[in-house]
Amino acid sequence: MMTLYFDNNATTPVAPEVLDEMLPYLRDYYGNPSSMHTFGGQLHRKVEEARARVAQLIGAEPEEIIFTSCGTESDNTALMSAVESLPGRRHIITTRVEHPAVLNFCKHLARKGYRVTFLPVNNYGQLSIDALLKAADEDTAVVSVMYANNETGNIFPIMQIGEVLREKRIVFHTDAVQTVGKIAIDVKKLPVDMLSLSGHKLHAPKGIGALFVRKGMRFFPYIIGGHQERGRRAGTENVASIIALGKACELAMQKLNDEVPYLTRLRDKLETALLQSCPDARVNGDAGSRLPNTTNISFEYVEGEAILLRLNEYGICASSGSACASGSLEPSHVLRAMGVPFTAIHGSIRFSLSRYNTEAEVEKVTEVMPQIITLLRQLSPFGRDKIAGNIKCP
Ligand code: PLP
Repeated sequence: MMTLYFDNNATTPVAPEVLDEMLPYLRDYYGNPSSMHTFGGQLHRKVEEARARVAQLIGAEPEEIIFTSCGTESDNTALMSAVESLPGRRHIITTRVEHPAVLNFCKHLARKGYRVTFLPVNNYGQLSIDALLKAADEDTAVVSVMYANNETGNIFPIMQIGEVLREKRIVFHTDAVQTVGKIAIDVKKLPVDMLSLSGHKLHAPKGIGALFVRKGMRFFPYIIGGHQERGRRAGTENVASIIALGKACELAMQKLNDEVPYLTRLRDKLETALLQSCPDARVNGDAGSRLPNTTNISFEYVEGEAILLRLNEYGICASSGSACASGSLEPSHVLRAMGVPFTAIHGSIRFSLSRYNTEAEVEKVTEVMPQIITLLRQLSPFGRDKIAGNIKCP
């Protein structure tokens, strides 16, 4: 059976061009870039070439890029460095809809005595800049607001937030793990101090990430040991994956202008068809400010997990919430923060597309979904009541 992969916010397939570029560095050129001999030392140049490619995609200088092992490490490092660089300040601001890489690290810092403000969002998942301004005070060391949400695709007003924080001289970190490679980013114009990204969300392998740290920022390493990454992140470089990330960034840069309209069209086609063919379905998020590849739809009176299992029978991969939270039936913290009704949270499905999805794949999903939803509603007592007209939708 063919796999129809609509779970690209969980992880993406490695691009063939990326795999080709990295393989020789696993198979043949396995040296250590810190070695004195040519065999290893020549890899240093390849690592720097990759750094320049990553930097170029986000408008940074190569020396502003630190390679890490993943988005989570980049997020943890950014927050830790920010609080360490301002030891007199004990307050952190973030949002209730962050990925656990930020959310749980902030909770960890709260247990260590930091004061953390978790900003709420409205029903569309939007953040109030006024609320952020009210929360910021002389004690605030860092604000961390994600660039785009992994579950809904909502894009946050990073430009405006950065501008107000710059006036207040508060460090601003953004988790752009879901954003880099999906929409254009230029840190020359964007007032952020640190920005996290992760390879496996943009067609590089898992286990490689990067952190942008603006030149002039005080920085404290999180992983301490050798002198790699100019003393900012110890550990022998993951050369093949670094090269892969560089190639993935170069590809993203070349393809972005075509991909944004392509993915928007496919996503909108999918979303419109599902809303038309499945009664009592609603889109979660901010339709006016979303990643082009993501739609999160709630189908009332059905369980998301049951939908996923049925989709799986057709080879269709989607998600019923954050990939990192899958395996638990905890309702999504993002949708809860948005005040999505309980029944709608449980029937929510995220479809996230990539350059490899086709029109025919979207048509297949739009063909099978109404059948699945009707069948599941017939099977569930709640759904049967709904079909019989005993329950009125709000
Ligand atoms: N931040 C966001 C917004 C994410 O979606 C993810 C992964 O899903 C992460 C951070 C963690 O990235 P990684 O899996 O590379 O650690």
